[in-house]
Order: sequence, then C-alpha cells, then structure tokens
Amino acid sequence: MSGDTLSKILAAQGFKGTDINKIADLLKTKAGITGLRADRDKIEFLHEGGLDKPISKITVMPGPWRRVELTCDDGGVWSCNAIDIERDTRLVYRQGEILDGDSFYLAGMRANIPAGILADVYDLLAFEMDFERDVRAGQKFSVLFEENYSDNKKIDNGSVIVVSFDALRGNVKMYRYRKSDKAVGYYDPNGNGAIKSLKRTPINNAKVTSSFSTRRKHPVLGFTRAHKGVDFRASTGTPIPAAGAGRVVARGFNRGHGNFVKIRHNGSFETLYAHMSKFAKNVKVGTAVKQGQTIGYVGSTGLSTGPHLHYEIIKDGKHVNPLTVKLPAIDNLDAANKKKFLEYRETLDKAIENLVDHPDLFIQM
Ligand SMILES: [Zn+2]
Repeated sequence: MSGDTLSKILAAQGFKGTDINKIADLLKTKAGITGLRADRDKIEFLHEGGLDKPISKITVMPGPWRRVELTCDDGGVWSCNAIDIERDTRLVYRQGEILDGDSFYLAGMRANIPAGILADVYDLLAFEMDFERDVRAGQKFSVLFEENYSDNKKIDNGSVIVVSFDALRGNVKMYRYRKSDKAVGYYDPNGNGAIKSLKRTPINNAKVTSSFSTRRKHPVLGFTRAHKGVDFRASTGTPIPAAGAGRVVARGFNRGHGNFVKIRHNGSFETLYAHMSKFAKNVKVGTAVKQGQTIGYVGSTGLSTGPHLHYEIIKDGKHVNPLTVKLPAIDNLDAANKKKFLEYRETLDKAIENLVDHPDLFIQM
C-alpha cells in the first residue's frame, strides 16, 4: 500500500500512530495525496526553535508546481494548506542549422534545444516532413518555446509556441494558438490547421527502405509488381502508432501482409499497417483509436525480408503515396478566431525579430 511509505517516513521522524493517522488523513482530504515515496516526493521537516523541539511544520512537494504545508499549533493540532506555486513562464528562442552528416536531433542539441522540446518538434513536423529523407545540410530551423521558472529557478519546459523548418518542400512554420473555446492547436501562418489528419510517417525517425511505386521488383517474389505503400525500417517490437484517429476496420493475417491492421479515418482515408509481430491488446475490429495510439508492433510476418513497417494510405479506395499525398488538416479556424490568430501571430513575429538579434533575452508571459 502506498500509504505505508508515508507512515514509515513519519515514524522515522518520531511521530506516533495517532499523529501519523491525523497527518495522513489531512494530506488525503485537503491535498488529495494518498501516499508518498521517499525517493520521489520532496518532504521537509521543520523543528521550530531547534532540533530538540518537536516538528512543527511539514512541507511536501508532490510536484514542481504545488506545495503542501502541514503546521502544528501549540495545542498539537495539525492543519493543512495546499499552495499552487506561481509559474513564471518565459519564451526563449533557439536557432539551428543542419550540417553535413547531421541529424535534426544533433543539430537541435547543438542549438541548445532541450531533448523534450525536440521530441515535440518531431511530433509536430512529422505531419509535414520525413526527418530521414528530407533533412539536408544547410537547412535552418528555429523554435520558440516555454521555460517555466519559480523564484528565478528553471523548473521545467513547457510547450513549443512557434516552430519553423526549411524543409525540402519549402518553409514549414507552425504557431500554437488557444482558440476562444480554450482548445489549443497548431496553425500555419495563414491560420490553417497545421496538424494533418494523418501522419506520413507513423513511426518517428524510421528510415524509408522502400518507397511507393507502381512497379518494383518484389524482394521475396522476385518479379515486378506495384509497391502500394512505404516501408520503414524499425526493429521487431517497436510500437506502431495509428497515423490518425479512426476506427479499426480489419485486423488479421494474409500471406502478403502477414499480421495487419486497417483503420478507416474521417473523410475518405484508410491506412494499413503490415508485417506486425503482434497486435496491441484491445485493438480489435470496431475499436475507435486515437492518433498516436499503439495498434501493434513491428515484425516480419508475411512476405517480408526483415523487420519493418509496411504502411499504406488508401484514398477513396485507391492507394496513394503516403509521403506526397495532400492531407487534410484536422482543425481550421473560424473567421473570428482567424482574425485573432493573425494579430497574435504578428505580435509573436515581432517578438521573435527582437530575439534573433538578442538571443539571451526572452519574452515574459
Ligand atoms: Zn512494403
């Protein structure tokens, strides 16, 4: 039981059973804390008036943005106060450039962009570009992102606010924007939804080993036939995320595809994932899946020469090239939101112009 650890921590400080129960009860009812772990949660004890005096205050930090204070009055009665720590959010700007033989990850680290922010950028841009095939020396990128401070100390990173990447197909730029209904999304500079309904590359960072073609020599069969999808190299057991939200319409095995899953998405799109080693639990015909939800695991079942994901996009019943097909946006702004977005974008662009010249500065939110 998780409460055990709390009892142990308090007992080690010399608390008696009745006090332990009272404190545990206060933490549960006033702060929603049911258990503490010594290795994870910060807990401090204060002996007012010296170490020989009894503990008069306990401070618990269940996360970086919350502090719970338990205080004992002269009569030995404990009370509990949960405090939200004020977040001082700063927007910082980083620019980088891909060098020869570089990956976006390496270039991003060199540009002093935190790994977690880089992962978010991958996820955002995976709808627009393929980080294996589309990255070239000389491409520039920039990210405006949140850093959260408390008492002038950096605690963690927040969201990506603006990202820009000089992709092969032209500059890709996205802005994070909160609509009047509070829903948050990413939009291109004109206010069109930037997050596409389907990902071109379901597995981030997977190398394309065979592209879409109407004629190719089949590696196993030996003769020429169409390759109706794209192959991504990945090791056996790598989770395969659904490229978009939808409903599973087929899950089974056939000689060519091996274990495969087919999803029907909104509109006219379907996606198919083949050669799986196994299916995800709870993913069956009829299951509604979210974008990014694991539907199965990479394998080499069916006609396959080694572990990879074979991925197909089917539009109106016809196979299309996942890497080039025009994909609809999930979300577009209505007129009122678009007007506000464009004003907001202009403010951000002006702020960024300033940060380009003064990279040490930040925008105070
Ligand atoms: Zn294939």
